[in-house]
Amino acid sequence: MYRVTYIPGDGIGPEVVAAAIQVVNATGVEIEWEEAPGGQVAIPEHGSPVPAVTLESIRRNRVALKGPLTNVVGKGFPSPNMTLRKELDLYANLRLAKLYPGVRSRFEQVDLVAIRESMEDTFQGVEQKVGEDAAVALKFITRRGAERASRFAFEYARQEGRKKVTVLHKANILKLTDGLFLRTAQQVAQDYPEVEFEERMVDNMCMQLVLKPEQYDVLLMPNVYGDLVMDLAAALAGGLGMGPGGNFGDGVAVFESVHGSVPKYAGLDKVNPGAMILTGALMLRHLGEVDAANRIESAVAAVVRDGIHVTYDLGGRAGTREMAEAIVVRV
Ligand code: NAD
Repeated sequence: MYRVTYIPGDGIGPEVVAAAIQVVNATGVEIEWEEAPGGQVAIPEHGSPVPAVTLESIRRNRVALKGPLTNVVGKGFPSPNMTLRKELDLYANLRLAKLYPGVRSRFEQVDLVAIRESMEDTFQGVEQKVGEDAAVALKFITRRGAERASRFAFEYARQEGRKKVTVLHKANILKLTDGLFLRTAQQVAQDYPEVEFEERMVDNMCMQLVLKPEQYDVLLMPNVYGDLVMDLAAALAGGLGMGPGGNFGDGVAVFESVHGSVPKYAGLDKVNPGAMILTGALMLRHLGEVDAANRIESAVAAVVRDGIHVTYDLGGRAGTREMAEAIVVRV
C-alpha cells in the first residue's frame, strides 16, 4: 500500500486529476490518496497557493500527483510551481514527448525525454535596473545544480534503457555559465559509459529537432533552454494533450502534466485527460509498479489509436470523462 498526496489544482486540474486517479486505481495497485490544497483555489481558505499543510503532506508521503496551478502574473504570490520546487528542492524537471499513433502531428516518430535543471538560471528572477532605460538579469549556474540534473538524466537513461543523452548549451558565448553546465555534464557522462553522450548548441538543436526528431533520445539542459525546448518537443509530439512530466528531488517527486490549467475549459468536461493519465503511469513507474504503468500506457495508446472515445484535440467528440472511462476499460 502506497500513500500519495494529490493536488487537484486550478482550472481543468480537478477533472484531469480525478481521471488519472480513476485509471491508476483501475490497475489494482493499492494507493491511499491524501488530498492537499494547492493553486489559486487554495488562497481563500489557506492564505497561500502552496499551503504549509500541502508541503507537509508531500514531505511525509514523498510522492505527489499534482494538477496544474494557475500563475497570476504580476500580483500577489510568486509562481506556485517555482515555490513548490524551491520548498521541496525539486531540482530536476522531466517531460516526455512521445508521439502516439492517432495523434495529429507533422512528424512520424517522436520519442523524446527532456530533462532540465529546474531551480537556477535566469529563472531565479534576479533582475536590476541600470538607469532608466536598461536592465540586467542574472544567470546562475552552479556545479551542484548542473551535477544533480546531469546525474538524474543519466540515471534515468540507464534505468529506462535509453541509448543517448544530448546536452544542450550555448557555451561558445556563455563560457562561464553554460561552460560550467557543459563541463559538469561531460564529467558525469564518464560514469555512464554505456550511455552515448553528445553535445549540441541549443539553437542548432532547435533546428535538428524539427528536421529529424527521431535521432534524439534524452535531452539535458539548463533551466531556461529547457523551458523553451520542452514546449517545442511537446509540439513535435502533437501538442500538450498527451505530455506527462515530473519534478524530482532527493527522495521526493511531484508528478504533473506538461499542460497548464486551461482556464477557459475549466469544468466543461472537454479537455484531454491523456497527459495526466500518462503522468499517473510515470508515477507508478517511479514507485516500481512497472507492469501497472505499462498497462496504462498501452490502454492510452489503444484508445487514442482507435480514435473513437477521444477529445476534441485528437479529432474526436468525447469529453474528459468518456475518454478516461474508455481507458479504464482497457486497463
Ligand atoms: P495551458 O497549457 O493551460 O493551455 C494552452 C492551450 O493548450 C489551451 O488553450 C488548450 O487549447 C491547449 N491544451 C492544454 N492542455 C490541454 C488538454 N489537456 N487537452 C486539450 N487541450 C489542451 O497553457 P497557458 O494558457 O499558457 O496557461 C494557463 C495557466 O496555467 C497559466 O496560469 C500558467 O501559468 C499555468 N500553467 C501551469 C503549469 C503547471 O502547473 N505545471 C504548467 C503550464 C502552465
